[in-house]
Amino acid sequence: MRKVGHPHRDEPGSEDVDAAVASKRDDQREDPLGEDEERTSLQRSEPLDLPVLVVNRQFHPVKLTSARRAFLLLYSGSALALDEAGELHDFSAWRRLPVREKDHRVPIVGGSLRVPRVVHLRHYDRVRRPTVPLTRKTVMLRDGHQCQYCSKQPAIRDLNIDHVIPRSRGGNSSWENLVTACRTCNLRKGWRTPDEASMRLIRAPQAPRWSLAALIVMGSPLIFEEWNPFLRAS
Ligand SMILES: [Zn+2]
Repeated sequence: MRKVGHPHRDEPGSEDVDAAVASKRDDQREDPLGEDEERTSLQRSEPLDLPVLVVNRQFHPVKLTSARRAFLLLYSGSALALDEAGELHDFSAWRRLPVREKDHRVPIVGGSLRVPRVVHLRHYDRVRRPTVPLTRKTVMLRDGHQCQYCSKQPAIRDLNIDHVIPRSRGGNSSWENLVTACRTCNLRKGWRTPDEASMRLIRAPQAPRWSLAALIVMGSPLIFEEWNPFLRAS
């Protein structure tokens, strides 16, 4: 397990967890996958921002959420928290569990509360269809960090994202119109279409079909070993 910064600097010590949860700023985006700045902010984060894996009734992964949202699900009875032995706990059982050395904790009245790694939605059967976020990084991953015009694989800093049909010509930012290009090809192509520049793409760009497990791992600043059984099986 990788670790993040020091937990709970300015947590309210004398309130119950629901009050603590409610008083916390909740500006995190619904989809935790993707951007680097989000990763950085998570790495500085408090225990309530830690990622928690949400699994459905059949224990298939659904998404990552924050510990803050996981506690709300637990407290409202929508979810149960899963311990490493595979046992499910409702909120009152969970708050009685001891907090061990390796756990992240949230202070509550009379002690502290273990941050769960996995919560189980009791009534949710669906499997979320993964949507890969369209970012510079995911376009480059889809293309294997290979220039889609000349096939070279220079260092990442020498790669650009190219609009196949330039934006100035109505080209949009979509999986089908964005490709990885080396600087040389990017400059050579300029504001032209591939036809005009006599440059051919080595493959037709498409949205990638990655598994939800791959996306969860890719998008999370932390990977907890407690997630492994669920991510492997998906
Ligand atoms: Zn190139």
